[in-house]
Amino acid sequence: MDITAMGLTELGQLLAGRQLSAPEIARAFLDRIRLEDSRWHSYLTLCEERAMTRAKAAQRALDGGTAGPLTGLPLAVKDNICIHGIRTTCASRMLADFVPPYTATAVERLEGAGMVVLGKTNMDEFAMGSTSQTSCFGGPENPAAPGRVPGGSSGGSAAAVAAGLAPAALGTDTGGSVQQPAAFCGLTGLRPTYGAVSRYGLIAFASSMDQIGPIARTPADCRLLFRAMAGQDPRDATSRKGTPPAAGGDAYIKTIGLPVEFYKDLSPETAALAARTAAAFENLGWRVREVSLPSYRYGVAAYYLLSSAEAASNLSRYDGVRYGLSGRGNTYAERVTDSRNRGFGREVERRILLGNYALSRGYYQQYYQRAAAVRESLRAEFDALFSACRLLLVPTAPEPAWPVGQKDSQPAEQYAADACTVPASLAGLPALTFPAGRTAAGLPVGMSLMGRAFDEEALLDAAEAFLEGGGV
Ligand code: GLN
Repeated sequence: MDITAMGLTELGQLLAGRQLSAPEIARAFLDRIRLEDSRWHSYLTLCEERAMTRAKAAQRALDGGTAGPLTGLPLAVKDNICIHGIRTTCASRMLADFVPPYTATAVERLEGAGMVVLGKTNMDEFAMGSTSQTSCFGGPENPAAPGRVPGGSSGGSAAAVAAGLAPAALGTDTGGSVQQPAAFCGLTGLRPTYGAVSRYGLIAFASSMDQIGPIARTPADCRLLFRAMAGQDPRDATSRKGTPPAAGGDAYIKTIGLPVEFYKDLSPETAALAARTAAAFENLGWRVREVSLPSYRYGVAAYYLLSSAEAASNLSRYDGVRYGLSGRGNTYAERVTDSRNRGFGREVERRILLGNYALSRGYYQQYYQRAAAVRESLRAEFDALFSACRLLLVPTAPEPAWPVGQKDSQPAEQYAADACTVPASLAGLPALTFPAGRTAAGLPVGMSLMGRAFDEEALLDAAEAFLEGGGV
């Protein structure tokens, strides 16, 4: 039996049926990580002993009949999500020695449900990037497309699941970092509605868009994790219980919109798979119609402005005195300068510069306020679309995973490749990425379903039906 080839649902059934024990499962994944992760570099830190101790405790719960659906199942966690006592680096020299004194609510809830954390996964530094190659420890590689990037910034989480080094993982999505790596690695990933999952214990990048989301083999596995994590948390004032929107009439319930702007500038194979995905939904009984989201064209610019502005402010706490890499020097100014010079990589510096510029006097109105206005237009346009369509179907990325190194020196090109995922972030809406098929060369292509706030279950149902129907 190949334990490491299975997802959460399958492993859970074997645990419940007593065909496997929680320590056996944890052992199998940890052994495979030791053997194979030098190739993929998906993990930054392993917590082997802690995992085995918890797996044994989970087994006692299983034996005692107090287990839930997640008890004893392993999980990988992106390295910007804090766990008490486990080094959490954000893949930055700035936090290379940081050991958090508290645990993120999302992890606390999953561990409370009996999950076993195997380790912390590689990522773009401070979650800024689309390849995971800005990690100060060196980037991971894509096990579903060797030689290519696993996407970013949650590339280590996606790579770990794709390589069979974890049955599921947590990523974080500010502008597509759950969706795009899931797509690049042939997996399923859910960006929850803003506020659906607590951000407490998630190291901030752009607080108005950051969300923790699952990356897994199937929508069913994402659903298990999402349900266990979601809900209001007194430690995050933006978290909400949220009620799914009212269903509406029959025609509405079965209508999927294809916003035409998302379908321009796709690679030919992505475009072909996107068309076949839409056709497959039609065969499943959905009414599929073209719609329009005019402000889409300003999405990337608005996202990079707003997210960099928030990042500049969030990252100002790393001064090498109160937070971050200890700075050298005789004066406060010298210490701050030294800490930030040595602590931050190039991409993070670029965002801080851009963000502070956009927020500076004289430019604030010209840049920040205009980006904020784009955000408002996008929200209004989405509202209008969702009064006529239950869901929207969009490509996750304009092209599949590119070779490692190919776009490293072209940040603007990488930013442009986020066009399909940033609208959900700006509007605070949920988006579920699922595998739509592969190119002739075998590269995974993902599609995303978007919905109204707190309509995650509808996204999961629709993707599940699509995959059960055999895909494209
Ligand atoms: N690629 C986007 C960026 O670099 C998204 C990152 C994210 O979602 N964390 O900002």
